[in-house]
Amino acid sequence: MILRGYSNLTGVLGLKSGLHIGTGADPGKGQPLPIMVSPRSGQPYVPGSSLKGKMRCLLELTYDRPRTDPRDPGSPCQCGVCQICLLFGSGSAATTREPTRLIFRDCFLTTPSTELLEKIQLEEKPGVRIDRVTGKAAKGALFPMERVPEGCEFKLEISVRLFENDEADAVRKWLAMGLFLMEKDALGGGGTRGSGYIEFNKIQFDEKAFVDKWRDECEKTKDSLKKEVQIKKKS
Ligand SMILES: [Zn+2]
Repeated sequence: MILRGYSNLTGVLGLKSGLHIGTGADPGKGQPLPIMVSPRSGQPYVPGSSLKGKMRCLLELTYDRPRTDPRDPGSPCQCGVCQICLLFGSGSAATTREPTRLIFRDCFLTTPSTELLEKIQLEEKPGVRIDRVTGKAAKGALFPMERVPEGCEFKLEISVRLFENDEADAVRKWLAMGLFLMEKDALGGGGTRGSGYIEFNKIQFDEKAFVDKWRDECEKTKDSLKKEVQIKKKS
């Protein structure tokens, strides 16, 4: 397979609610769950792996996973040949026949958001469990979490490896659908409880801006995408 070149998607990932991408570390009783920060700048960022994982998961839930690990029903598709495996890589080394197309960069804060977060603190959102008998906050059941405050923005960048038979425009359509689904869903922790409501703006693919109504386009093509848009021409 000949690597013909790269396409590039850029944009701005904006927060419509606070974002919690946790480190998984146990902060100790009563302390807020910490978020990922850059060790160099101390500022929060969105790891490429978080974006990639969420987009892949939503596309698989929407368009199916032809083959999963029978010992792990929740695992990513392992068929190695569906559109999602071609874009994101097969979930199994044994069925990997070609390189992954999509490269998700870590997303760092825009300059205005960096300046804002140098002045204000990260949000510390309290969480409580409601006692089912009393209907009040249960004793000792506080679980606060750190969040990047709503309104902050990150720089989005996804590189696309294009092999000899790949259609850049088909990759663009699959990526647009992935972004569209992520806006409808949530990113990071606490997504079913208000956190991680995101939007993508100023999107460009190979320096060409997405049309204003790109979300309407995705809505219209959602059911036909899998059948009609193939990233790889039959060789
Ligand atoms: Zn697959």
